[in-house]
Amino acid sequence: LVGRTFKDTATEIKLSDDLIIGGKKVVIMAGPCSIEGEEQIMETARAVKKAGASILRGGAFKPRTSPYSFQGLGEEGLKLLKKAADETCLKVITEVMDPRDVELVGRYTDIFQVGARNMQNFYLLKELGHAELPVMLKRGLSASYNEFLMAAEYIMSEGNYNVILCERGIRTFEDYTRNTLDLVSIPVLKNLSHLPVVIDPSHGTGDWRLVGPAAKGAVAMGADGLTIEVHPEPAKALSDGQQSLKPAKFESLLEELEGIAEVS
Ligand code: PEP
Ligand code: MN
Repeated sequence: LVGRTFKDTATEIKLSDDLIIGGKKVVIMAGPCSIEGEEQIMETARAVKKAGASILRGGAFKPRTSPYSFQGLGEEGLKLLKKAADETCLKVITEVMDPRDVELVGRYTDIFQVGARNMQNFYLLKELGHAELPVMLKRGLSASYNEFLMAAEYIMSEGNYNVILCERGIRTFEDYTRNTLDLVSIPVLKNLSHLPVVIDPSHGTGDWRLVGPAAKGAVAMGADGLTIEVHPEPAKALSDGQQSLKPAKFESLLEELEGIAEVS
């Protein structure tokens, strides 16, 4: 079902009349790594809206490496995220980690995010295959293209065809960057599949100074969207501050991207 042999026209995922992932415009998802509180998410929502983004991201259930790190605000975070998005007319994307939370998260989001660590959580994928909302599936930390596409197949084979692929960097021998962002995945995945491809330059590099160049490269290579971490005060962020852009930097990045393709 994921393959070009099944369907040879690009899949368009329509969130509203003028917001289509896989359409003509590059769709921008932006927001903090984690929802930390009302003021933080409201301020970020206003800033990314003003800059030109159309989807607000933010995690309430966080897949942290250490069990002692901030794990997210849970349902309280989802409520704050939805409120901030509604007040700024943005759509919502947020991560679901557990099949038991699909119903809960679905009440607050417009797109489910499956994190890299859960790419092969087949029970979660099957559960999302029965959901009504689109799913953005992030590539596993060391997943091949075939493994990535087969994970998408799990969702589609249960009936949900609205799947977005997200390249977020893979683990290689190089440890200067947090991950190695594989931009060639854009044409490769588009040759193999009809699904839209989104790039995450934040987790892909782990360094806010590299986010802009990686985002520009991704757009030049044909990405259908970008997901970018933005925080009003990155130095105080409870997660991923080092890779988060300040609002002003994010705004100037979107202006630069407009020179390459139409963004929304
Ligand atoms: C995220 O987008 O917040 C995230 C945790 O990403 P990943 O699953 O790609 O590490
Ligand atoms: Mn993050």
